[in-house]
Parts: sequence; structure tokens; C-alpha cells
Amino acid sequence: MIMLEKIVSLAKRRGFVYSGSEIYGGLGGTWDYGPLGVELKNNIKRQFWSSMVYNREDIVGIDSAILMNPKVWEASGHVKAFTDPLVECKICNQRFRADQKIDLENHEKSHKGKEVTWTEPKKFNLLVEAKLGVVEGEKSKVYLRGEITQGAHVNFKNVLDSSRVEIPFGIAQVGKAFRNEITPGNFTFRSREFEQMELQYYIEPTEKESKKWYEYWKNERMKWYLSLGIDKKKLRFRQHQENERAHYAKDAWDIEYDSPFGWKEFEGIHNRGDWDLSQHQKHSGVDMSYFDQKSNKRFLPYIIETSGGVDRTTLFFLVDAYHEEKDRIVLKLHPKLAPHKVAVFPLLSNKPELVKKAHSVYKLLATNYQLCPIAWDDRGNIGKRYFSQDEIGTPFCVTIDFQTLEDDTVTIRNRDTAKQERVRVPNLSEKLQAALAD
Ligand code: ATP
Repeated sequence: MIMLEKIVSLAKRRGFVYSGSEIYGGLGGTWDYGPLGVELKNNIKRQFWSSMVYNREDIVGIDSAILMNPKVWEASGHVKAFTDPLVECKICNQRFRADQKIDLENHEKSHKGKEVTWTEPKKFNLLVEAKLGVVEGEKSKVYLRGEITQGAHVNFKNVLDSSRVEIPFGIAQVGKAFRNEITPGNFTFRSREFEQMELQYYIEPTEKESKKWYEYWKNERMKWYLSLGIDKKKLRFRQHQENERAHYAKDAWDIEYDSPFGWKEFEGIHNRGDWDLSQHQKHSGVDMSYFDQKSNKRFLPYIIETSGGVDRTTLFFLVDAYHEEKDRIVLKLHPKLAPHKVAVFPLLSNKPELVKKAHSVYKLLATNYQLCPIAWDDRGNIGKRYFSQDEIGTPFCVTIDFQTLEDDTVTIRNRDTAKQERVRVPNLSEKLQAALAD
């Protein structure tokens, strides 16, 4: 099995990710996150929020609506320019993105030696349309947001007026976006419904400030992925060519991962200039300028954006953590991301005194780790339980055995080294907290 298939199979088998609406044959480009997937994804979002909002004085968070006045998307340029070039295979009428050369080559190969001809590229708009209203025929067309970005920009004035931010400052947001992707694929990598985690950072509109903050945010975002354990050799920056850049971008670099299907973007850092605020000012008639008290000047700020995909990040964290060892599969997820931090086992499930003690240890840990679920397993033998926890990345397993009943000690087994040590129950929480914080 190739690597991506292994990840897809593990994800389904252990409850990370399932196909959307699977019992009805699925719906292309949609995915559902299972009990472990939702924890992993939430942990990623929590780490993003904590690094962007909780650990900084210059950034605030918002949560804007998915449905927005359609004028927003006219102003932002998405109605006109949010397009991909689409070509159609003249043999089977399947449609592909003309700029995804590997997909085109693979498709040509699938026709086994036949001469494949393609139609001329057509522009295809990615915005997903919906209808709002109660009376058939009088419903108005809206769009499901194609990026979460505009929710920050339309609230620029609200945030300025209701909080104490001063330029330079940022608005962070995490939320769903929707794109009518021509060819969803590579598991969750290209979906039609996905989540983004973004920072929109407003700065003085000068080249000097743009350069300074652009470099700063590029480095900060790379550091964030490294701090959560992604292999440095598998990460790189790539600058967009001029013809690749989105309509709003003055400069664009991607953070790419060396994935099972090649180097791929999972976060973009863009210099949006004053595109968004000037467009919204023009189309809404509302003054979007900022008055800088220090310099006594009024200006439209420039924006440096960091825009990452939660689903792509989740996928690449899974791929990066996946290891096959001699007698086990282990997900070496960073403890901050692991769905379960700790699993608790009674050595034998048919000894009530062991089970009772194990339940009390479970309760003790659950009280101390309210922000994450503790795993419980009393099936099969202890080896199988370790194997099962390794496969989902649980950093520590705690076993309650007969010695526990005598001296109130348990074993802690470390996922990465498979080493065990005995610890007294009253010291357990503290010991685990320290190990998880390393
Ligand atoms: P691509 O070139 O792969 O289509 P993009 O350059 O259009 O991506 P952006 O518009 O910069 O992507 O969006 C920011 C981030 O949102 C991306 O880095 C990615 O992580 C995520 N993203 C974009 N489109 C999708 C998608 N269809 N499925 C999952 N995540 C996506």
C-alpha cells in the first residue's frame, strides 16, 4: 500500500476521518471527522488560537458569519476573479484543472495509449452559491464564503471601535470555507468544504513596513509548524510566480510539505496591500481609513495575511507522525496534538479490585485533564492495548496492576521509547503534566 492509502485506511479504521454521507455513496469533496479526528483537529485549532490570540497583545479573534451580503464578494473580486482554468477530456468528458499538470498526465495514462485531446481552458468560478428566503422564486442568491478572510476585513472598523487595538495589529479567525473545486482529491487535501485558520495583520502602508512584517510572519508561521513537531526536512517555502498569484496579492509565499503526492501548499502568506480595505471602502461607501495618533496621519492600512488550512494541516500532521516499526505502527504526534494524552488500563478486566482502582485513577486524571479525553481500555491483553494506543498516538499508557493494590504505584509506559516506569498515584498527574509539557 502506498503511504496515502495507509493514512486513509488508518483514519477510517480508528475514527479520524470518514467519507462524508458515506451510507448514501458519499458526496465528492466532503469529509466527516470521527471521535479521534475531531480531537486532533480541535487541538490544532487550539494551538493556533493560543499562539495567535492568547499569547499576543497585538491580535484579537473574531468569528464572522459564513453567509455574507453578496456585495462583499463583488467588492473582494471573487465574483469576477475567483476562478480556476478548467479543461475537459474529449474522450470521457471528465473535467480537470488545467494548471494541475500531474492530474492531467495521470488522466492521459488512464486512457492507455489513446490520444487524449483537451478542450481549451475555460474560467470556472469556485464560489458555491446558495439561495436564501422563504418564497420560491423570490429567494436571493448568496454565496457560501470562499475564504474566511473577508469576514475580518468587513469588521475592521468594528474591531477598531470596540477594542483597544492600534496599528500594527491583527485579527485572527478560524472557520469553514467552501469552494466548488473542479477536482477534489488526495483525501482531505482538496475538499469542497474545509476550515481555514487565518491572521489578517494591519500595518502602516509603506514598503518598509510591508517587508518587515512579511518576513516576520513567514518566519513565525514556519516556527509554529516546527514547534509542533513537523519534520524540518519536509517543510519549505516557495514563492509564487507572478502569473500564479491571486488577484489581490502583491507577494505570495507558500509553506509546503513534502507529501505522499509531492510538495504541496498548506499555508499561504500573502501581502494583500490595501486591496481589501480600498475595495470595501469603494463598494460600501464606508470610510475604512485609520487615524494614526502618533504620526497624526490618516491612511488605509496594508494587510499581511497568513492563511492555513486546518484539514490540510491535520492530514500532514498525520502523515508526518506515521511510523511503521518492526512490530507496531506508531503515530508520533506531538503530545499537544494527540487526541488522547493518556490511556488507563486495569491489567486484567476480570479482577474487580483492579478495575475499581483503575476507574478511580481514570477519574483522577479526567478531573485534571478536562480539556482532553482520557482513553480507557480493558479489552484483550496489555500488548494489544499498547499497540492500539500507539496507532492513534497516545503519548502515555497507565496500567493498574496487583502491585498498585499493595503500594499505590502504577506503571507509565512511554509511546516513543516503549519504556516503563513506576510512579505513585498521588504523583501521577504532576508527573504526566511535566512529561506532556516537554
Ligand atoms: P490551491 O492552490 O491548492 O488551490 P489556494 O492557493 O487556492 O490553494 P488559498 O486560497 O491561499 O489556497 O487558501 C489558503 C489555505 O486554505 C490553503 O493554504 C489551504 O491550506 C486551504 N485550502 C484552500 N483550498 C482548499 C481546499 N479545496 N481543501 C482544503 N483546504 C484548502
